[in-house]
Amino acid sequence: MKSKHDVLIIGGGPVGLSCAYYLLKSGRKVTLLDAKEIGKGSGSGNAGHIVPSHIIPLAAPGVVTSALKWMLDPAHSPFGMKVSLDPNYLMWLLRFTLACSQDNVTRSLEPLNQLGQLSAKNFAQIIAEEKFDCAYQEKGLLHLFKTEKAFHEGQHEGEFMQKHGIPVSVYDKTKVHEVEPAALDDVIGGVHFTGDAHLNPAVFLNLLKERVRAMGAEMLENTSVTGFESAGGKVRVVRTGKGAFEAEQVILAAGALTPSVAKDLKLNIPIQPARGYSLTMSANKTMPSHALILGERRIAVSPMGDVLRFTGRLEVGNYSMEPNPVWIQRIENSAREYLRLDEKQDVKETWAGLRPTAKNGVPIIGKSPKHENLFLATGHAMLGLSLAPGTGLVVSQLLNGQQPAFSLSPMRLERFG
Ligand SMILES: Cc1cc2nc3c(=O)[nH]c(=O)nc-3n(C[C@H](O)[C@H](O)[C@H](O)COP(=O)(O)OP(=O)(O)OC[C@H]3O[C@@H](n4cnc5c(N)ncnc54)[C@H](O)[C@@H]3O)c2cc1C
Repeated sequence: MKSKHDVLIIGGGPVGLSCAYYLLKSGRKVTLLDAKEIGKGSGSGNAGHIVPSHIIPLAAPGVVTSALKWMLDPAHSPFGMKVSLDPNYLMWLLRFTLACSQDNVTRSLEPLNQLGQLSAKNFAQIIAEEKFDCAYQEKGLLHLFKTEKAFHEGQHEGEFMQKHGIPVSVYDKTKVHEVEPAALDDVIGGVHFTGDAHLNPAVFLNLLKERVRAMGAEMLENTSVTGFESAGGKVRVVRTGKGAFEAEQVILAAGALTPSVAKDLKLNIPIQPARGYSLTMSANKTMPSHALILGERRIAVSPMGDVLRFTGRLEVGNYSMEPNPVWIQRIENSAREYLRLDEKQDVKETWAGLRPTAKNGVPIIGKSPKHENLFLATGHAMLGLSLAPGTGLVVSQLLNGQQPAFSLSPMRLERFG
């Protein structure tokens, strides 16, 4: 027997939960399904950076060359990739490489900027209105550098962002130590994206989950979507391990697993997982006072009240969510190259998550080209938390037949042809 629903959301990560929140606010009835526990997947152990400054997509000029260079120094490389002859994977690699162009950057800048600004505003609003206590801090994101070359490149990137309205401050050696006393003496400069923020993502997602439940959402955990039945240009049935569902409208927000969940829908959704790791420890005696990026090592640092988190590594093509102890140790070693840390760490959690990465590094948001009641909200890569409240709002507007404040066409699936 099929149960009939208004809006059915597949995937309870930051994106699915945010869609649920805004749809409930607009008066819709929501059912949220997750194969595992809602709010506990790839969104929970991440760095918690809310970064409207990230307006350059992952697929940008120079990315492939840098990735190849990094791989020559395997003990420190922030990048890795699976070796596989899977044709989907090889095609994605090829398409991603081709997308690393100035054209892709030019096309993506404005939509990422608009979605990023909307999302940052929505985070501040949700946290204030709902009184969420989640270590949220609007102190910007400070990039630290130890070498002149990397500092110079960081300043160059900062100037580029500034031209697109992103607030940036550049600090010399004296100033950077004044601003961030946890930095070791050989840090020579910093670039501070002062409009960014950070929070504890697991706490935020749990609070959002409880709020969404209190607003009336039906939430089904450990309920894996196994297939769909479509007819007449509509999704008619969503099949799960716990029975079949019918819904007026369906949102597919299953992160890196979206392509396999969608296999019956005959949509080509070009997403690969990009795995990364985090290490969370008790607060240190000297806590960094900002969210940081350790420039040359590409490690993210997040002080979250009573805990301190380091995250890093981007491994394309790996679906396993097992943290790799070798990389966890390397991430800690890299952090020690920049920061005053306690000699012995009280490790609270090691974690791995998947960044759902579309082949041009830009999210996929919009109505399915083949189904008038199916909407896609996925492919946010390294920005799935940061862009979630903006995505949730625009997706709820689309479902309600309203026009979002900016064009979503650069994010529609059809852009891939
Ligand atoms: C190391 C690391 C650091 C990061 N740091 C940041 C950061 O600082 N800021 C930021 O913005 N982003 C960051 N990210 C990226 C961010 O975590 C992801 O972009 C985000 O989790 C994607 O959200 P999502 O809701 O699209 O997908 P997910 O979080 O992956 O959620 C998808 C959900 O779908 C469910 N699902 C899958 N298959 C099915 C099925 N068949 N049936 C039902 N449910 C299913 C899953 O169980 C999961 O709960 C980081 C990622 C990593 C790995």
